[in-house]
Amino acid sequence: MLFRESLFMRKLRYVLFALFISTSPASADELSSLRVAALHSSHAYEFVSSLTTEVGPRLVGSANDDKAVAWAQTKLKAWGFENVHAEAFDAPKWVRGVETAEVITPTQQRLIITALGGSVGTPADGLTADAIIFSSYDDLLDAKPRSLAGKIAIVTEALIKAEDGAGYGAAGRIRRSGASEAAKRGAVAYLLRSLGSDYRRFPHTGQMHYDDGIAKIPAAALSAPDAEQLDRLAASGKTIRLHITLTPHVDGMITTHSVVGEIPGSTKPDEIVLIGGHLDSWDLGTGAIDDGAGIAITTAAAKLIRDMPVRPKRTIRVVMFGSEESGLIGAKAYAKAHARELSKITFGAEADFGADRPYKFRTKFGTAGEPVTRAMARALQPLGILFDDRPATGDSDVSQLAELGVPVADIEQDGTHYFDLHHTPDDTLDKIDKQVIDKVVAAFAIVSWIAANTDVDLRAVKASGN
Ligand SMILES: [Zn+2]
Repeated sequence: MLFRESLFMRKLRYVLFALFISTSPASADELSSLRVAALHSSHAYEFVSSLTTEVGPRLVGSANDDKAVAWAQTKLKAWGFENVHAEAFDAPKWVRGVETAEVITPTQQRLIITALGGSVGTPADGLTADAIIFSSYDDLLDAKPRSLAGKIAIVTEALIKAEDGAGYGAAGRIRRSGASEAAKRGAVAYLLRSLGSDYRRFPHTGQMHYDDGIAKIPAAALSAPDAEQLDRLAASGKTIRLHITLTPHVDGMITTHSVVGEIPGSTKPDEIVLIGGHLDSWDLGTGAIDDGAGIAITTAAAKLIRDMPVRPKRTIRVVMFGSEESGLIGAKAYAKAHARELSKITFGAEADFGADRPYKFRTKFGTAGEPVTRAMARALQPLGILFDDRPATGDSDVSQLAELGVPVADIEQDGTHYFDLHHTPDDTLDKIDKQVIDKVVAAFAIVSWIAANTDVDLRAVKASGN
């Protein structure tokens, strides 16, 4: 018997189809094919392997910084991206120099330290002074004015290891502000226990800053075993005298770049789904997990979208931000340069938390975006990713866009071991698992695809009564 669809059935089918289109921004087939392609791709690993091997560390203003900018554009073109270009901005060039330290009394021994980014140096032949050790940063803050006159102030507070990296956020002030706090109390140099969660003899570098109007004193990080050695020496009650030599300096302003590539949208090419990470890295390792992995993940996700049989409606833009480590300078320059385009950036997400497994997902959309959040959460669930209803903030660079109202999602990765390696000589390719990084690629490909195809304005607020 021939089936004749009644008018009612036809209308019902139309209504159901329209409902599907309006609440489900991408078909289940498209999403599962993206997921499968990502899990079998290995593009991300190839990317980060090439970057860390052929370029290596990428300190802002170094020759490798420029080399990375050229490398990234070549890679994007080779992978079929369009509108590939570099966007220039100015940033300070900081040079590391010599970094040594020794205990002189009560016993002679070498300490392993590394200068903090932005730090000034000691005299060329070093500085010798007695040390005062604080087992907690708050104890330093409680120290009286002038109580550290002529001394090296040392904070040995340990970072707390946490899956979501909360320990790093909480301890950030010790690295960022410690030198000026010590200088306000008369100290001539400042050392901290590295903001790391490992027990290897690798110090962790990272950016610090000086308060205006306060003497600039040299600042460096000790490896965890060296910080604990000083704790034990301090427990003996004997005077600890150190000699430290640090010769970093700021070598003026330079022009550096963020690198951009696009997969043009089919029907809304002027609307942008922006994903990325940062291209620069510290100089001690090769910047594999921070943030070679992040730009590998997001570029691979966009490439998978490019390889789909249909184009996304909106343009997928990959941004590899420059000069993130020295204080989000590239992200701030990008937000300024694109101020007039910001309303066209309909979605942003960044990967800047290593290469470990994704486990949590958050969004910050207008209330009209709730069905899109649900569609994303449903599509991420098979990857073992849990939805978290606290609002997303946007990872490092993209947080600058989130603050200006760009709707964002955070795909959170397991950070339990991230701060074992972060900003150390041990941040190298061998720490990345090829299968695990593909899971992160799958997650970014899925949310980007949904954001690029949804009919919902993610900034919009639901009309009352809906
Ligand atoms: Zn980073």
